[in-house]
Amino acid sequence: MNILVIGASRGIGLEFVRQYRAAGDRVIATARDDAGLERLRALDAVALKLDVASPASVSGLAWQLDGEKIDVALYVAGVLTHADAHTPPTQPDFDHVMHTNVLGAMQTIPQVAPLVEAAQGRFGFITSDMGHIASAESSYCWTYRVSKAALNMAVASARDDYPQAIFAALSPGWVQTDLGGGGAPLSAHDSVAAMRRTLAHLKPADSGGFFGIDGTPMAGW
Ligand code: NDP
Repeated sequence: MNILVIGASRGIGLEFVRQYRAAGDRVIATARDDAGLERLRALDAVALKLDVASPASVSGLAWQLDGEKIDVALYVAGVLTHADAHTPPTQPDFDHVMHTNVLGAMQTIPQVAPLVEAAQGRFGFITSDMGHIASAESSYCWTYRVSKAALNMAVASARDDYPQAIFAALSPGWVQTDLGGGGAPLSAHDSVAAMRRTLAHLKPADSGGFFGIDGTPMAGW
């Protein structure tokens, strides 16, 4: 298979690269600095430089991928801020989180989805349980929650524009990465293995859905 991982310098993205390469797949993966690109090349991935928060950088993605058919694309890039609703986000903080987690995905979709359609493939977007409106229990990481709920809507609402691809918002669970911290219960290995299973089992009727780490649809959004 041809795999594309966007935001793969470390954490969950790098683990996707590792596992798909170990399965014998060809992997194209992105990072935004030289150290990240080097880690991707060390796994024999095709490494592309991409900053999802730079519209100019994202707009060059389609030509960098010219002629590719992508069986599985993953939008993994994401950032987290911790403030709750007692502290309104500053505009720079809000813009940073929303740009990376939402606008970057929305600008990436028209660049990448036609290549996924060409392979009748799958396009996964790494969301979060924190973006699940029906189970919101606090405003902890307020802006992040809002960004992931918005990402879920971007995925759900774009699916009909790309009927030959299967779109999915995937929760990775709470994972031991720089973002998730050392106290998280899941290793990146186990989280990614579970999401790969979920992706592999998706059917066209599932497109646009939001799936938990065990692969079941998240009820009520
Ligand atoms: P990490 O902080 O370990 O990795 C974040 C990744 O996103 C890095 O590769 C980083 O690249 C990349 N990234 C951030 N900003 C940009 C940008 N502007 N352009 C390109 N790449 C960018 O976090 P995780 O691996 O844990 O997170 C991956 C995804 O999983 C995120 O979307 C996150 O929200 C989501 N998630 C994680 C959970 C967890 O418990 N870990 C729980 C729920 C969701 P760089 O090295 O250049 O900064």
